[in-house]
Parts: sequence; C-alpha cells; structure tokens
Amino acid sequence: MLPSYNIEQLTALVRAAESKRSPLIIQLFPSTLKQLPTLAHAAAQYVKTATVPLSLHIDHAQDVEHIRQIIRDLPVDSVMVDMSHYDEAENLEKTRILAKECHDRGIAVEAESGRINGGEEGIADTGELEALFTTPEDVESFLAAHIDILAPSIGNIHGDYGPQGPAEGQLHFDRLEAISKQINGRVHIALHGTNDFPEAIMKRCIKSGTAKLNVNKLLLEVWNQHLRENAASMGLVRLMDEGMDVLQKETERWMDVCGSSGRA
Ligand SMILES: [Zn+2]
Repeated sequence: MLPSYNIEQLTALVRAAESKRSPLIIQLFPSTLKQLPTLAHAAAQYVKTATVPLSLHIDHAQDVEHIRQIIRDLPVDSVMVDMSHYDEAENLEKTRILAKECHDRGIAVEAESGRINGGEEGIADTGELEALFTTPEDVESFLAAHIDILAPSIGNIHGDYGPQGPAEGQLHFDRLEAISKQINGRVHIALHGTNDFPEAIMKRCIKSGTAKLNVNKLLLEVWNQHLRENAASMGLVRLMDEGMDVLQKETERWMDVCGSSGRA
C-alpha cells in the first residue's frame, strides 16, 4: 500500500508494480484529493489499464461529509474510515454507518481500532490524545461494524521512530499475532506507521499476520532526498525523470523485501 502526493510519484509506483509483477494498493490522502483534484482520476486510470492488479485507496479519511463526497464522486476501491479521534462508542457507530454506505457502492472499508498516535503528512496529529492498544474486544466490535480491513494499534506510531526504527519491545508482536489468530481470516490486517522500519521488522510484521503494509516515508524519502540534493542544479524535466527512477527502484526493492514481487 503505497502513497503518492503527485503524478510523478504515482507513475513511479505503478512502473515498479508492473516491472516487479506485484499487486499494489495506491493510497491518496484526503488532503491530496483537495490539493490535486485530478490525481484520483489519474490513479483510477492506472487501476483500469495496468497489467497487474492495482486498487485505489483513500487513507485516513477523518471527516464524515468528505467521506460521503469521496464515495459518491470518485472511482475509489476502498476507504479508511478513520473515526479514531472520537471515543470508542462514537467511533464504532460512525464506522458502522459509513461502512454500510461504502458497501452499498461496492467500496471496501478499513478502520483503525484503538488509537495509533502521532501524525504524518496528510494526517491530523492525535496531539494530546492517549495511544490506546487494540484489545480482543475492540477486534470483535469493529468486525461487528462490518469492516473489511482492520488497522490495529500495537505500539506502532505515525511519524518517525528514529534512524534505527522501532525500539526493542516497542511493537507488540505478541499482540499482533493474537489479533491475527482471533480474526482468523475474517478481515485483513493493515499495519500503519512503518517509517524507519528495517527490513527484518517489516518481515516480522508480515509473518505475524499483516497483509496490507502502509508505507510513506519509508519509500518517499529517496524522492525527497533527490529533490533536496538536485533541485538547485537540475532542470525540472530531468529532476522529475531521475526522481521517478530512484523512487521506482526503491519501491521495487521493498516489493522484493515484502514478498509481493511476482505475485501478480
Ligand atoms: Zn495511518
């Protein structure tokens, strides 16, 4: 599940998926839909014409009316209905209502159980709100709201862990494994907050039951770095071309690490 904030990144991600024969979920933030209203249509065109299975997902949609507008007007395949800034009862009730509205349009729904702390580009920071780890009761409550994908809170954070990645014990793999066992294939598990992940941690999360891996900085940092280093000296066309190349290569590398290469 790979994010893009512009057409060049989108293009590079799709190129990587096709060259690695990997399925791919293209992710756009609601803020990106507002900033670049045509980007979702460009992504949907790739979903339609690519030679590998792609889908278009809207990540962290936190505004009820915006969600309704998105599912009514845009060619999306899935939406993360993120009501985690409400208390649990209200989160569940809003999730249940919106899941029904999405399903009526053939759109799949992801929700966050517990509360994953922090913020990243495109996501409102949880600020003073306390992180809440996902419990077995949360899992059943969210499944009862008829979601399709569950994003648990297991010590993962939105934002940076630091250059070494998560500290020993910061991610509760035992909790993740228990959640996976409890879910028993009824929905998929999404892992948010993968900035700074070393390869081994990513593999461990997959082994513990995660199917959908949300990456952001983990991939896009090479793009940012390329711009920082070359923006002053390179013409725009070459800057974009080479940026797409470095992002495609980095994406291909992670597709190999995650084992999605060759699966399309
Ligand atoms: Zn997230």
